Amino acid sequence: MSTDTALYPSERLATVAEAVRANALDVLLLTPGPDLRYVTGYDAKQLERLTCLAVPAKGNPFLLVPQLELKAAQASPAGALDLEILTWAETGHPFGMIARIVGDPQSVALSDRMWALHVMQFRDVFPRAKQYLASTVLSPLRMRKSAAEINALREAGEAIDRVHAKVPGWLKPGLTERQVGAKIAEAIVAEGHVQVDFVIVGSGPNAASPHHEVSDRVIREGDVVVVDIGGTMPSGYCSDCTRTYAMGRVPDDFVKYYDVLYRAQEAATNSVRPGVTAESVDRTAREIIAGAGYGEWFIHRTGHGIGLESHEDPYIVEGNTLPLEPGMAFSIEPGIYPGPHGARIEDIVVCTDPATTGDGYQLMNNVPRDLVIV
Ligand code: ZN
Ligand code: ZN
Ligand code: ZN
Repeated sequence: MSTDTALYPSERLATVAEAVRANALDVLLLTPGPDLRYVTGYDAKQLERLTCLAVPAKGNPFLLVPQLELKAAQASPAGALDLEILTWAETGHPFGMIARIVGDPQSVALSDRMWALHVMQFRDVFPRAKQYLASTVLSPLRMRKSAAEINALREAGEAIDRVHAKVPGWLKPGLTERQVGAKIAEAIVAEGHVQVDFVIVGSGPNAASPHHEVSDRVIREGDVVVVDIGGTMPSGYCSDCTRTYAMGRVPDDFVKYYDVLYRAQEAATNSVRPGVTAESVDRTAREIIAGAGYGEWFIHRTGHGIGLESHEDPYIVEGNTLPLEPGMAFSIEPGIYPGPHGARIEDIVVCTDPATTGDGYQLMNNVPRDLVIV
């Protein structure tokens, strides 16, 4: 089996059609993005011209593409599926074409990331239909990763680990965050990703701002630097990993809470196994951090799912009572940000069946988590 057919199996379309019926929806409509890629393998560009996969509850699914995209669609994994590919000409009416085939649905599910430009035209051609999110149908499928998807996440994890292994060599006092970030971005691609999704180099006080990206701040001796990086692999699957580095000597109060963070991240990871809820993994990390007196500085959820998107279900957060199952993949990334510095440690983990793996989880990131003193 080629990587494509293992990652994007041809049976998936039928599974999705079954899920459309099980959810009592009349039709699922997917424009380019992770949902379309998940169902068909087609990595189409999101454009104002409509490309849309329609999966009706009754009748055959079809893919409508602009005439000029036909060759690209046929060359994609979608071309090998049992799926009719229709085209619309430059002056045609693609929404009308879909409506003529689909009829007068009562309920339509639209890609979560569909542009309002398209959502509103679907509302016009299906005036009686209630609109739902495609994730109603697809999230339960996308959350439970196949062996091929877990392999793709492992490859992504290994690639980003190779980048982190080189980061200490690039962190030099006198360089700006932006200069270090540029080297990291280059390495993300050189190590096998097709796209850089984000590069966070938070030095000094910026380490206490979890989603700081890069700035022209000059890195100095005595700084703590949070480096959170990720990209998308040719498979479509994403990486995401954070390590915290220290430039020479570090303040005693920092060392104290880094140790608390290390223990919280490790305990939350060790708590992962089938049946444990997403929120209880969050609580495990949070109780250790709060117990040591840093609770008010842990200002975000413990993690997020990852796959074809770098943030997707399941979210590891209080209130998410979803029991974990083998195949679910997510980050475990507690952080403590008291200022004038901060720290975060992040790995991607996959929940596994202890009967086959001996453990309830596998780690996709394996670079050391100890504070690296540069
Ligand atoms: Zn984040
Ligand atoms: Zn991250
Ligand atoms: Zn993350």
